[in-house]
Amino acid sequence: MASVTATPIVALDYPSAAAAMSLVDGLGERCRFYKVGSELFTSAGPDVVRRLLDRGADVFLDLKFHDIPNTVAGAVRAGAALGARLITVHASGGSAMVASAVAAAGDQTRCGILAVTVLTSLTDADVANAWGRAPETLNATAEVVRLAGLVAASGAHGLVCSGREAAAVRSAHGPALAILIPGVRPAGAASQDQARTVTPAQAVAAGASYVVFGRSVTGSVNPAGAMDRLNAEIDAATR
Ligand code: C5P
Repeated sequence: MASVTATPIVALDYPSAAAAMSLVDGLGERCRFYKVGSELFTSAGPDVVRRLLDRGADVFLDLKFHDIPNTVAGAVRAGAALGARLITVHASGGSAMVASAVAAAGDQTRCGILAVTVLTSLTDADVANAWGRAPETLNATAEVVRLAGLVAASGAHGLVCSGREAAAVRSAHGPALAILIPGVRPAGAASQDQARTVTPAQAVAAGASYVVFGRSVTGSVNPAGAMDRLNAEIDAATR
């Protein structure tokens, strides 16, 4: 049984505000928290965030900032002023960068910084290759738990990792850090470009605070029906 209630978030990975808002209209009360990522923000701009807020939805601004501390602080300040509830930065940008993001966001219960640890699209071998490490010495779970220590020390709201590492983060850091889990797929569904996937029930059991659903909703011929099934799986795993 899960002790943490997981909030579902739908990723609006669309090329236009019209396409994104049509999905939002179709889901209605089934989802009240939406993720605006690089594709939608680059094509539709901050106005799409305002439109979501006007509908009473919460917004997760997933722009994964990774730059010098001063630049990241400015970007986070702009996102917080826009009304985002959650904003991502990369944990590998370092302690000073993550801390400057937290300071710029201010009250973490109003606008929380989530630090991306290891992208869910990467295998252990991919990470070893990108970071110049010997493959046999690289373990994604160990790297995520190590980066979680950096995130906890920064005072950030939490982190992003796959459901496969979440239980290890919970046992190392308890309930203090919020954990957002992307790369979630119903049992038997294709993983597409994701590598470290889990099912909704596994994400909840591992201690997710937030679960992100992308193509399992937006790629469905019946997004409302898909969302109903995913919400039901989360509810059943939470009880
Ligand atoms: O379609 P899918 O469910 O794979 O979408 C996952 C979403 O979560 C995408 O919008 C992606 O940008 C995001 N994400 C991720 N891995 C991370 C952080 C965010 O897949 N580590």
